[in-house]
Amino acid sequence: MTRRSVTDQYPDALPELPPRSRGVIGLFEENCTVCMLCARECPDWCIYIDSHKETVPATTPGGRERSRNVLDRFAIDFALCMYCGICIEVCPFDALFWSPEFEYAEEDILDLTHERDRLREWMWTVPVPPALDPAGEEPKEVAAARKAAERPDPPEQPGTEPGRPGGRGPRREGEA
Ligand code: SF4
Ligand code: SF4
Repeated sequence: MTRRSVTDQYPDALPELPPRSRGVIGLFEENCTVCMLCARECPDWCIYIDSHKETVPATTPGGRERSRNVLDRFAIDFALCMYCGICIEVCPFDALFWSPEFEYAEEDILDLTHERDRLREWMWTVPVPPALDPAGEEPKEVAAARKAAERPDPPEQPGTEPGRPGGRGPRREGEA
């Protein structure tokens, strides 16, 4: 009663949302292995995935052929989605992300099912992750890369050209 109204004048003025707002879900399909975990865990059953198997020939003589899943369809029905974020949490391959975009209202409810191309487009609106806490523990991957970079060069082997790492033999034409 004693405070001023704080009604946002949307759409004349865009609201200032926190950068990690749950607006829409983006799909980074290069990371998706079609494991189906997100579709199985979604409480609303609003993730639709189709795929087929493809045989990958052996890469070495005598090796075995392998099969891999190829994504045919990935869609999310935002008319059903309750923005719980479970799909993003359970994805083991970092293929799903929150974007703060929210302006995708439709007149036809069927248009709220976003197919993979549209889900990919949302990826470009996903904010970059926040910087790491400088006081936090160093991530294992970063520590391993740093140790590898700091490792001294192996000692020169007899018969190798000085200054050539690993004794790669004489320089070839055009080689630095
Ligand atoms: S946010 Fe929740 S309801 Fe929406 S698609 Fe993901 S798991 Fe399903
Ligand atoms: S959980 Fe991730 S990797 Fe698995 S199907 Fe869903 S998006 Fe793809």
